[in-house]
Amino acid sequence: MNRVILIRFNEIHLKGGNKKYFIKLLHNNIKTALKDFDCKIEDIQNRLVVRDYNDEDGIVENLKCVFGIHSISKAVELDNDVDLIEEFVSNIRLDSKTFKCEVNRADKSFPIKSNDFAARLGELILKNNKIKVDIHSPETIIYVDIRENGKTFIFHEIIYAYSGLPLGETRDGLLLLSGGIDSPVAGFCMAKRGLRQDILHFDSFPYTSPQAKEKVITLARAIKKFTGSKYMYICSMTKLQEEFHIKCNTEYAINLLRRSMIRVANILCEKYRYKTIVTGESLGQVASQTIESLTTTNAVTKYPVLRPLISFNKDEIIDIAKEIGTYQTSILPYEDCCTVFLPRNPIIKPKIKDAEREEEKINLDYLIDEVIKNIEIISLE
Ligand code: ATP
Ligand code: MG
Repeated sequence: MNRVILIRFNEIHLKGGNKKYFIKLLHNNIKTALKDFDCKIEDIQNRLVVRDYNDEDGIVENLKCVFGIHSISKAVELDNDVDLIEEFVSNIRLDSKTFKCEVNRADKSFPIKSNDFAARLGELILKNNKIKVDIHSPETIIYVDIRENGKTFIFHEIIYAYSGLPLGETRDGLLLLSGGIDSPVAGFCMAKRGLRQDILHFDSFPYTSPQAKEKVITLARAIKKFTGSKYMYICSMTKLQEEFHIKCNTEYAINLLRRSMIRVANILCEKYRYKTIVTGESLGQVASQTIESLTTTNAVTKYPVLRPLISFNKDEIIDIAKEIGTYQTSILPYEDCCTVFLPRNPIIKPKIKDAEREEEKINLDYLIDEVIKNIEIISLE
């Protein structure tokens, strides 16, 4: 008898010919997530199993952050042997008032059918505990999962992870991370669909403080367990913002800043082979997130900009931020480059032509080049 951790996946089952590839990805991502633990990871048909470990709860906590995992159970592993299973079940002691047994017989050579075996095991539990059977809403369910590899897993708890798809091998996305609540959540949401992302942050030192920058680095480190991020790029927008402030229509300040952020992101995509940009924008949340504003930023990108929060309400975003552990850092009161040189009346319906006219008032190409030249790259490993 071994204690093991059983890992189930769901969407991967729908991958047809690519299923093997996705399981391998998931296996590798689990290996990375558990690199600080002593353990072995084994593929069995339609499940993964962690064995020979030293810290069960620590491993489960880390597994919960691996996308592609549907659920996890701390289980006991036995051979597919009627006597052995019955002996183990006879020794189960339950505190609850009601229970049921659920048998899943993936191994069709196992001699007793699922329902019949569940009834037999139920009898054994009834014999040894002061308890009743409740088929519809039992307090405890004893699961018996009889697999094709000759092993049976017995457990009573199913711990749900986030499902989704395993992170890909390459870092395909560039997440624009501010110090706010939204962008870490956006990174999490895209990672859930398998998009591995590195991080791009803009500051405006000395108008933004070193603490503001530290806060964003903390956020980057907090989400990397989801996003698989290795690098964080930090770019200074100070000179650009000063020029916009002095020479351009102040109503356009945020819009011009956004277009510059996307331009810089495009250059980094080209240089480091990212395929897409991710932001935490949500429709109508602020003036810079109206359809017209998004249209003017879309006009300067060659790469798709993914905005997973576009239809989310703020309270929905906050719920996820709390769940993934970024909320408390995000609400620390430090400034962002979007909040310095803030115009009193930011334009709500900017036009591409007008934004272009404003940009002609400064030496934009030179200033963007300078941003790229002075980029700071931080390793998150
Ligand atoms: P957040 O809570 O993510 O800061 P927000 O509601 O404050 O978002 P904005 O400030 O308009 O909204 O920013 C919209 C998006 O633009 C952010 O979600 C982020 O993806 C990107 N962004 C804003 N400021 C920065 C920054 N300083 N560095 C990198 N990306 C930024
Ligand atoms: Mg912000």
